[in-house]
Amino acid sequence: MSTPLSQERAGILVVDDRPDKHVVYRAILEELGQDLVEATSGEQALKHVLHRDFAVILLDVNMPGLDGLDTAALIRGRKRSAHVPIIFVTADYGDEIRTARGYSLGAVDFMMSPIVPEVLRTKVKVFVDLYLLARQAKRQAEESAALAAERIARDAAERASRQSAFLADASAALSGSLIASATTRALARLAVPFLADVSALTLVEAEGVEPVTELAWTDPEAPSGIATEALQTTAWLGWRHAVERVITSGKLETFTPSHVLSITAGAGSGSPMVLPRGPQITALALVPLIARARTIGVLSLGMGPSERAFDSELLDVATDLAGRAAIALDNAFLYRTLHEQDRRKNEFLAMLSHELRNPLAPITNAAHMLQPNETDPRRITWAKEVISRQVRQLARLVDDLLDVSRITQGKIELKIESIEVSEVVNAAVETARPMLDSQEHALAVVLPAQPLRIKGDFTRLAQVLGNLLNNAAKYTDRNGRIELTVGHEESQIVFRVRDSGIGIPPDALGTIFELFAQVQQTLDRSRGGLGIGLTLVKRLVEMQGGTVAAHSEGYGCGSEFVVRLPEAIDAAPTKTSLTQSKPGGESVDASYRVLVVDDNVDAAESMAMILRLDGYVVQLAFDGEVALDAVRNLAPDAILLDIGLPRMDGFQVAERIRALPSCASTLLVAITGYGQPEDLERSRRAGFDRHIVKPIDPSLLTQMLAEHCRSRTTVNSTENVVPLRKRPAAN
Ligand code: ADP
Repeated sequence: MSTPLSQERAGILVVDDRPDKHVVYRAILEELGQDLVEATSGEQALKHVLHRDFAVILLDVNMPGLDGLDTAALIRGRKRSAHVPIIFVTADYGDEIRTARGYSLGAVDFMMSPIVPEVLRTKVKVFVDLYLLARQAKRQAEESAALAAERIARDAAERASRQSAFLADASAALSGSLIASATTRALARLAVPFLADVSALTLVEAEGVEPVTELAWTDPEAPSGIATEALQTTAWLGWRHAVERVITSGKLETFTPSHVLSITAGAGSGSPMVLPRGPQITALALVPLIARARTIGVLSLGMGPSERAFDSELLDVATDLAGRAAIALDNAFLYRTLHEQDRRKNEFLAMLSHELRNPLAPITNAAHMLQPNETDPRRITWAKEVISRQVRQLARLVDDLLDVSRITQGKIELKIESIEVSEVVNAAVETARPMLDSQEHALAVVLPAQPLRIKGDFTRLAQVLGNLLNNAAKYTDRNGRIELTVGHEESQIVFRVRDSGIGIPPDALGTIFELFAQVQQTLDRSRGGLGIGLTLVKRLVEMQGGTVAAHSEGYGCGSEFVVRLPEAIDAAPTKTSLTQSKPGGESVDASYRVLVVDDNVDAAESMAMILRLDGYVVQLAFDGEVALDAVRNLAPDAILLDIGLPRMDGFQVAERIRALPSCASTLLVAITGYGQPEDLERSRRAGFDRHIVKPIDPSLLTQMLAEHCRSRTTVNSTENVVPLRKRPAAN
């Protein structure tokens, strides 16, 4: 509230060295009702003007010391008092030089002494009134500025609370669904009319997301006041290009009316943009939706009928909304991916049990055949073949599963070396041969005339090609034609596995390398499989610095898988070799004794049976304690020791055996399901000579024993038999 003019008091400074004059001034000016401040010297006057404002200063020109004119000069020189009106009082009005100096110092008047009371009072009153009016005007201006600021702050607070409420509602609406399309629609609707008259949400085409633009606009005729539409394509090229630009840059863009006209010029008219139909757009803002540093869509906001413009505050709210929407949509996409993975996993588990059960029936039947009263050698051979084939199939499934999990955990280590291409091709064909033969396919292998070398891991490369050949055989109807060609293209070795089989539909080509992915199969799943073979192929090839791609013209048109790997520049001889010296013809020393230790009685007994057939003296132990007794009594030449024993595990047993002087040259073999470098290292530390990963190939086992029996010094390394230490020569 401003103080009324009459209640305010102005300061009047009277400067005169004579006290009697002060009495006179007081008598004259008292009735003005203002604050009369007296000074008897220039110095005193200066002190007063330092501390308060005055409406007018009455200044005696003739004073001892600092005279009136010098005092005036000093008063003028100070910022606070630079403009205070000064009335000089002098008895010497005729001195023109002093008068001129007085005016130049800002005097507003000169009064002759003796003073005429009426005249002085009137003059002083004029300045007092002027001063009070100016003060009041200033105060009023300050008050209205404060009022305006308060109103602005209140408006801003109201707007902020409306915006917060809008954003809170928006968040609730956006998080209401994990379905991307529902979230998209919700967002387009939310923006209208709070943020704009028209809104359009365009999502970037991603996996499983259609490139749809959802529109919403104010429509007085629509029941809810908002009309919506989903557009598959956008006719306004300029707008589409702007959306694409924002997707690439991830930066907000705004368009003024003239911009809007220019971007609609792409439509050929140059007329106002109508988006999507109905309202005319006069201003446009494109806000990117960014989630995890990726632009996943663009929210286009248009102004038209409301004639609003996009100010920075509105754009801030739009950006905030876009941020929340991006998170909601990203969540919806992630949920969809998780859902899909979960579906595949469930499907996989169903398939897995199917695939694991499959071999069990023939094995049971074959075991039934092998009754003691069965004497027909053909039936016995058939049963044996069935069992070994089905066990191989089971082992392959388990191997693949283990490989996938090891690769996923980054636990596979490759032995990259220079490999002779024809050798690895032979190994792969050998693996796939049973499948190719059972389907009576014709296989053509085309190798270049010149020997080629490749950089890779022999075993894993053979596995890759073997997998592709197996698939070719599996997904080609009986009597098909399969071709494996190897070529040399720009310092790469290219393997092509082509088949005349069922082919792959174009929409599945992009996903078949994913884990558990399978092209829709018939219900009986006659071709089997777990959907992990190609995942393994891809990861193994990539780990070796190569690529793999699938091609097919579609159903019934056959398929082609192309693997590209770097050529080995050096001509170094192959270090890896799968050639295994066959044990054929060795005669076993009848005194060679083997101790088999395994808590799985069936496993121990079947192994003993195989070894006895080969002429070894075999003893069994089903736990560590018994094994140690047996070692002391039997003094075996070789001990096959399962690691996973109850109570005392294989490592502990091995350490105790190694401590016995009589067992210094005994061949100590670890039998285990684990073949990682750390497992091998543990076996070595426990004193094992060899580390065999289950399932054990009986021929490799007998070969190893035969060689030990023969030389009792060294044993060759084979694929899953790992030598751990150089053994001392037997005496
Ligand atoms: P699986 O064969 O165990 O199902 P893969 O990962 O090896 O798993 O293959 C994935 C899918 O790719 C298969 O289920 C099959 O639908 C398809 N596929 C693979 N190889 C071929 C091929 N040579 N011809 C046709 N389809 C194939």
